[in-house]
Amino acid sequence: MNPDQISVLKGLLKTPKNIVVVGHKNPDGDAIGSCLGLANFLRKKGHQVITLMPNDFPKFLQWIPEADEITIYEQEVKISEKIIDQADIIFTLDFNELNRTGDLQGLLENATADFVLIDHHQQPDDYATVTYSDVSICSTSQMVYHFIEALDGLDLLNAEIATQLYVGIMTDTGSFRYPSTTATTHRVIANLIESGAKNSEIHQNIFDTNSPDRLKLLGVALKNLIILPKYNTAYITLSQSELSEHNFKKGDTEGFVNYALSMIGVVFAAIFIENKSEKIVKISLRSKGRFSVNEFSRNHFNGGGHTNAAGGRSHLSLTETVEKFINILPNYKEALTYDV
Ligand code: 5GP
Ligand code: MN
Repeated sequence: MNPDQISVLKGLLKTPKNIVVVGHKNPDGDAIGSCLGLANFLRKKGHQVITLMPNDFPKFLQWIPEADEITIYEQEVKISEKIIDQADIIFTLDFNELNRTGDLQGLLENATADFVLIDHHQQPDDYATVTYSDVSICSTSQMVYHFIEALDGLDLLNAEIATQLYVGIMTDTGSFRYPSTTATTHRVIANLIESGAKNSEIHQNIFDTNSPDRLKLLGVALKNLIILPKYNTAYITLSQSELSEHNFKKGDTEGFVNYALSMIGVVFAAIFIENKSEKIVKISLRSKGRFSVNEFSRNHFNGGGHTNAAGGRSHLSLTETVEKFINILPNYKEALTYDV
């Protein structure tokens, strides 16, 4: 954050305010962790703070301190409307465009509050009074740490905030292994552990939560894996019936796409997940090296994200979506054939 932004923020937060902290639709560990950590900090500074998510989040994130206090818009529409209406300041975290909040978008667009954006996705929209955007930082949770630091608040860190931020940094860095993980990330993590984050316990709470159904669904996903050596690409499909047969629950397919990317020679991986109730195919794209899945998704699948991790969606059938994907690849042949 630059000195101007810090002084605007200090001005906004000088007196107690009604604050709403909003994450993106289908919140992941970084959305939940960063929002809860920031809300917790702002409460300690004397503000009234409510954390709001567009829809529900997976069970493996529900143990996080204060996760049970999150308001879910889909479940509490009227209350959410009132919360937004009464807000003086709305912090939007871990997303770059208001359309990432699904049905909350209209409410947010009409809100009169001051907006503060904290996010690490590429090409942030220009809707906030303060836009703290840094695409080089691994996670919004690390940015919340820097935000707290800039407001001279590190002495307010406690075990809860440390745990919340640790979850976001750990999940968005693939447990500290993606290239966005820096020495600063490790220094921040060291401070969070010193403030009370129980690193090994957190790891277990997030990752050792497989149900038999989820592991069997992973088996199906791996059976459905298709490799396209000519394009250094691999993709996975999961149909609605395959999901339903395994009692699919939110979060069950998290990380599946990484198996496709983990193969030798593969630099581009995709997973196509049919969602009959929303009438879409949800797409997750991952890459290694310079191929930008953010651009690929923006250009072809109504989405975006980061260079090496992006999401998108298709309104075609599952088969047609995969056909579209395969037909696009020849345009990227050169872009996809490099060594990593
Ligand atoms: P995932 O594949 O896990 O859903 O998303 C990968 C990354 O891309 C995450 O950082 C996520 O926030 C971002 N992302 C997913 N879908 C979209 C989208 O439709 N638009 C944008 N701008 N980012 C997305
Ligand atoms: Mn993130």
